[in-house]
Parts: sequence; structure tokens; C-alpha cells
Amino acid sequence: MRFRSVFRASLANIKTTRSRCFRHSYSQLQPQSNRPSFGIAFDIDGVILRGRTPIGGSPQALRRLYRDDGTLKIPFLFLTNGGGVPESKRASELSELLGIQISRRQVLQGHSPFKEVVNGYENELIVAVGKGEPAAVMSEYGFKKVLSMDEYASCFKDIDPLSHYKTWRIKQTYDENSSKELLPRYDVYSDRVKAAFVVSDPIDWGRDIQVLCDILRFGGLPGRDKGHQPPIYFASDDLEYQAAFPTERLGMGAFRIALEGIFNSVSSSPLKYTSFGKPNPFVFKNAEVILTQLVSDIFHSQDNMDGGTGHEFSTLYMIGDNPKVDINGAMKAGRPWFSILTRTGVFRGKDNDTQFPADLVIDTVEEAVDYILKRERA
Ligand SMILES: [Mg+2]
Repeated sequence: MRFRSVFRASLANIKTTRSRCFRHSYSQLQPQSNRPSFGIAFDIDGVILRGRTPIGGSPQALRRLYRDDGTLKIPFLFLTNGGGVPESKRASELSELLGIQISRRQVLQGHSPFKEVVNGYENELIVAVGKGEPAAVMSEYGFKKVLSMDEYASCFKDIDPLSHYKTWRIKQTYDENSSKELLPRYDVYSDRVKAAFVVSDPIDWGRDIQVLCDILRFGGLPGRDKGHQPPIYFASDDLEYQAAFPTERLGMGAFRIALEGIFNSVSSSPLKYTSFGKPNPFVFKNAEVILTQLVSDIFHSQDNMDGGTGHEFSTLYMIGDNPKVDINGAMKAGRPWFSILTRTGVFRGKDNDTQFPADLVIDTVEEAVDYILKRERA
């Protein structure tokens, strides 16, 4: 229930804050009647990319959403449970891989909602877990006292009894990517960790489960007396996802299950946690807000400067490869969402998924975009 109350407030904030700072990098003056009454949200892994390789004709499909001069014609964004880098960096990576210009506002990652809880922890010590640059992500969201799990664990001698057997080098991304003023020497021996955030898929599950159990069991101070469990937030809860390997890989949901199972075995009270990402309907609501603002952006409309409330979509398309996550999420979000399931990732079935049937099943994202543009006569 806490989750719901946090996000009702935050949605209003998103609308007012973002509408004020919206400017028009690719705007053109168009009559209101020409505005598209539809928008598109693309999942990335298993739909647009497999690993770092474009799949399903994704570059040419996405190019159809732009005008000849390279400006955006159809409002679209990426709605992924992945992450690990700031949205601006992910937008640059996608632009390079796909050969189109993608703005940071078109990238919604699993951890993007973390910025909505910054008010509770702005000046509190927090630990950010996962691959990539988890501390840089949290710093960009406004958290001022962030340590990556790598840095935090390195402060405690012998906290990981197996560290001597690990031959890989742990990259101290926080040190390399953060400015000096964000890097005070926090006293981790007396300053309690107030919350842990699993930003992206953890790399060293053994160490991370050990240290998270220490933080969570001992009130944010490993090695001390038992204490109240600090909150832990997960960016998503995907059990599996499609990466470069032919069959699915274990995702953050699998890590959560492992942590929860172990924590519940060593602790007297069960783990309390909050998960974000698809299929949570909140992320679809948030996507709708951003898509509405993109319409305002594209069509340079003054009457939408109040947060985009003047435009309503008749259809919002979610194109995904994972029935449990993408299709289930669109179903939970309800109208105007319309779900399209591709066969390039987790789902490989001939017919529809039986548990979470999509509105349309199609082979590739290229065919999905073709279907949408024909249906919308765009
Ligand atoms: Mg996917």
C-alpha cells in the first residue's frame, strides 16, 4: 500500500515539473487535428535488441516514426525493465546502435521510478547495487549520499570470506564517474544505511546477498546488533529475460527470490521489499504521461504546456516479447493500452500466450510497426 501512496503523489509531480522544462528540440507547428491519436512503447531486450545487436528489423521500423528531416513524427518511447546507466547515457547508446536520434525522455528504465522516492532519502546514506553505474544513476536522481555495493563492501574487511578466490577486477564505477563533492568519506561504521536499491542485475550474487543480509538484518550497520530492517527497492522483478544467449537468462526477480529465500532463513521476520518495473501499472501510467508530453513537444502546442492534459490518446501500443511482463502489464493498465507480442524474445509460441494473451501476436517489431501505421493510417 505504501507503493501506491508514493506514486499518486509522484505522478502529479512528474506532470508539473516536466511540463515546465519541456522545450522543443524537434518541434514543428502543426494543427491540432493532425496530432497522432496513438503512441507506442517498445520493450528493448528481445524486441529491439538481443544483447547489443538490433533484431526484428528494428532500425528500419523505428526510422518510419521520424520525418525525412529526422524530427519525430510519431510519439514513442522505450519502456524497459533493464538499466544500470543514466537515461541520458542509455539514449546515446540506443541512438548509436539504431542510427536514430533518441532523447533521454524517450527512455524509461526499470529504475527510473527511484527518482520519485528521493525525498525520503536525499541526504541519507543509501547503497546502490548492480551492474553498470548504479551509484551514478542514483546520484543523477538527486540522492546525495550514495555508495555502490562495490565501494560499500570494500569498506568492511572480511565481509565477503570468498573475495580472495575471486579473480575478476571490480570496477569502482562510483569513483570513476562521480564528481569529487559527491564523494565524502562516509563513516559507514556509524552511519546506518537507510535504504538499499537494486538498480540493475547484480554481478556478484554471493557477495551481494551476504552484504544485503548484513545491512537488512542489522539495521543498516553490518556486524552490529540486530535492528529494524531498512527498506529495499528493486528496479524490476523479471524472473527471466532474453539476452544474447539463445535461451532466457535469470533476471532481477531471480535475484530477489534468492535474497528473500536466504534472508527469511536467517532472519526472524520475513523480507519486506518493493518492486518496480513492468508489469506494475504505474510504469504504464507514467509512460502515458511522457508520451502525452512528447505530443506537446512535437506539435509545439501552448495548450499542452499545463502538463499535456489537453491531449488524449485513443490507443497506446505496447510492443513486447514477454507475456508475463509486457502483455500482463498492458492488460493491467487497461485502456487505451493495446498489447502486441513479438516472437523474437522470451515468447516463441505459434499461437497466443495462454496465461497472458496479447491483443496481437506477430513475428517481429518491424511487422508490428507496419501493422500500427496501417491501422492508424499514419
Ligand atoms: Mg523483453
